[in-house]
Order: sequence, then structure tokens, then C-alpha cells
Amino acid sequence: MSHRRQEAVGYLLRPDRVFDGETVHEGWVVRVKGDKIEAVGPPASVPADGSEVVDLKGTTLMPGLIEGHSHLLLHPYNETPWDDQVLKEARSLRVARATVHAQKTLQAGFTTVRDLGTEGAEYDDVGLKQAINQGIIAGPRMIVVTKALIATGSYGPKGFGPDITVPQGAEEADGHDALIQAVRRQIGKGADAIKIYADYRWGLMAEARPTFTLDELKLIVEVARSSGRGVVAHAGTAEGMRRAILAGCETVEHGDAGTPEIFALMKKQGTALCPTLAAGDAISQYRGWKKGQDPEPERMKQKRATFKQALDAGVTICAGGDVGVFSHGDNARELVLMVDYGMKPLDVMRSVTSTNADVFHLADRGRVRAGLLADLVAVAGDPTKTITDVQRVQVVMKGGVFFKR
Ligand SMILES: [Zn+2]
Repeated sequence: MSHRRQEAVGYLLRPDRVFDGETVHEGWVVRVKGDKIEAVGPPASVPADGSEVVDLKGTTLMPGLIEGHSHLLLHPYNETPWDDQVLKEARSLRVARATVHAQKTLQAGFTTVRDLGTEGAEYDDVGLKQAINQGIIAGPRMIVVTKALIATGSYGPKGFGPDITVPQGAEEADGHDALIQAVRRQIGKGADAIKIYADYRWGLMAEARPTFTLDELKLIVEVARSSGRGVVAHAGTAEGMRRAILAGCETVEHGDAGTPEIFALMKKQGTALCPTLAAGDAISQYRGWKKGQDPEPERMKQKRATFKQALDAGVTICAGGDVGVFSHGDNARELVLMVDYGMKPLDVMRSVTSTNADVFHLADRGRVRAGLLADLVAVAGDPTKTITDVQRVQVVMKGGVFFKR
């Protein structure tokens, strides 16, 4: 897992096939020059032109995978509960861990992550991104949201006496002026997008309830969008989802209690769903579910049902697992579960490459196409047919540089 810094030279990559982010091309080859893909196609049309030939027999070459929902500053909750990570871990400890998480993510073939909140670690995603971009540590390209926005009183850690003020895992802001300032402050500190929590388990009963009003959400979207940035909404309840969709949020994270009507609205408004199946699967196991032995918990049966409703409605599906809840580097768990929950392997592979690139406005990646960034992964076998092959990573290239070979 050494981070070899190499001069980006020219390579002719010869796998068994190329998955270009949309379709599979048997026998195609890819030529890389500098940090870009220079040519793609059948061997006869793509000569080596003096570049180093890299034989990748037995593999499928594809775009670097794009993780739609990560938290590089969190580690699995069965190691340390979320509350304790937020309240008891030094930020220096969290950042030190995050540098290792970043390397593991890249080694797993994920060359980009949309990192959706530092969860109490302030703006530390910004520095992490800079360390990767400056080549100080190995890691994926990062889209960061910094602290994320929550309505006052709605988030956690919670459960303390009402007279105690407890630091929160995201930034509280409400109402016209405070929300405008918070969005602009986060952008100024480095946020590439704004993350909001449209609902959360709230109050003594701890049921999930909508938080921001529709007008507040519209305001957040307007302020973010005027700077060219999108808004990402955590929403699990139908009403939280409805408000996020109507306000113009670009993606809904989780969406567990969506309904056919809500998914129809998402389709109509062009809002994408990031289902985070792997997070629910992991949390159920942390609570004692023995996967493969015990019957599936009710919460997961419901998730299967609502995910199918989203597919039936034709909602755009992002691939994002909420990794951090489970181990970094194990990102592909989400892809395996997406197939288990009813998607075709080819559609899942499109989701984690070209679809995520389109939804996250990353026109320079997500496809194997001349002129795009040479972010490429070769895996043994063919994940467009057998999804678990996506875990058999042989080669990882980011910006024309090999990070695993
Ligand atoms: Zn998350």
C-alpha cells in the first residue's frame, strides 16, 4: 500500500474488456498520456505510440469508482459508538485515522468520494482533501461539505440532561439570516456542496421528524445554488423527503420511509436517491442481527420494499453506502447489496461510475473516454455480470499514476 509517486508517463492498458461507464466493449484497449485518457477503442485503432504496454489479462478495466456517501472522519460504530467519536476522540486522532481511511478507499478502487460531513470534526475534511491533492498522502479526490447544517435541537449527540449544552455533530442554524450566513461560511471554508438534515430522530421520543421548514430548505438551496453549489439532503421520513425534493435538493440520502408517491415526485423533479443500503445492513448487525442465520429484521424488509418502489418509479440511483458506519475500503459492500436488493449488476456499475459523475457534476470523470481524467481501475473477472468481482481490485490509477499495480 505504498504511495509511490511516479512521473505520469504514457501507458497502453490491455484488459480483456473495457466497461466505459455505460457499456462493455470486449477486447478494447486504453491509452493514457499524462493525467488523461488519450484514446480508447479496438487495438487496431489505438496504437501504443511508444507508451509502456501494461498487460491486464483476465481483467475488466473501468472508470475509477465514485463513492456517493462517505465519512472519512468516522470509523465503524461497533469499534466506537458515534457519540463517543464526536465527544471523546481528539480531532488529531480522527484526522490521523482519516488519512489511513483515505488510502484504503483508494486501494479499493474508489478514486473519488463525496464525503458528507465531518460529524464534529469541524472543517478537517478540507485539510484532508488538500493533503491528498498535494500528494502528501494517497487518497481519493474529495467532494467535501464540511460541517453540514442542522435545525437547532434536532441532531446529536443527545440524551443528556436538558440543562447541559452538548457539542453537536453538525452546525445548528435556523431562519433567514442565520441560514444564509451558515451556508456562506461553510462555502468560504471550503464546502463543495451543502449537506442538510431534513429530518432526524428528535426530542424525548426520538422518532424521526422533519426539521427545517420548506421555506428554510428553499432558502438554503437558493443561497448554495447562487454560488454554483448543490444541496444534499439527509431524509428518511416521507415528509422530510418531500420537502427536500420540493426545495430543489439534488440528492436524498437514505430515503428509508419513501412511498410510491414520494418516489414519483423524485422522478418528476429529477432528484436522485442515494439509498445507503450497507449502513442499515451494518447497523442491524451491530444490534445483534446474525446475517445469514437470523431472519431479516423488519427495518431491512421495509428498506427492500421502499428501494424496489424507487426502482419501479425510475428514480436515478446514486451508489453510496454511508461508509464510515462500516469499514473504509469495504465501500463495495453497497454495490453487492444493490444487486441483492434488485438492481442488475450492469446498472449498479453504471450507478457507481457515470451516474454518480453526472449527479455530482463531475464532467471530467466517471467514464472511460478520451480527454477525461485517467482515473481507472482493473478488477479480475467482469463485475457487470458478477458484482462481487468489483472487490477483486488488481490495478488502481488516479490521474495517470498507478497507486496499485
Ligand atoms: Zn452519512
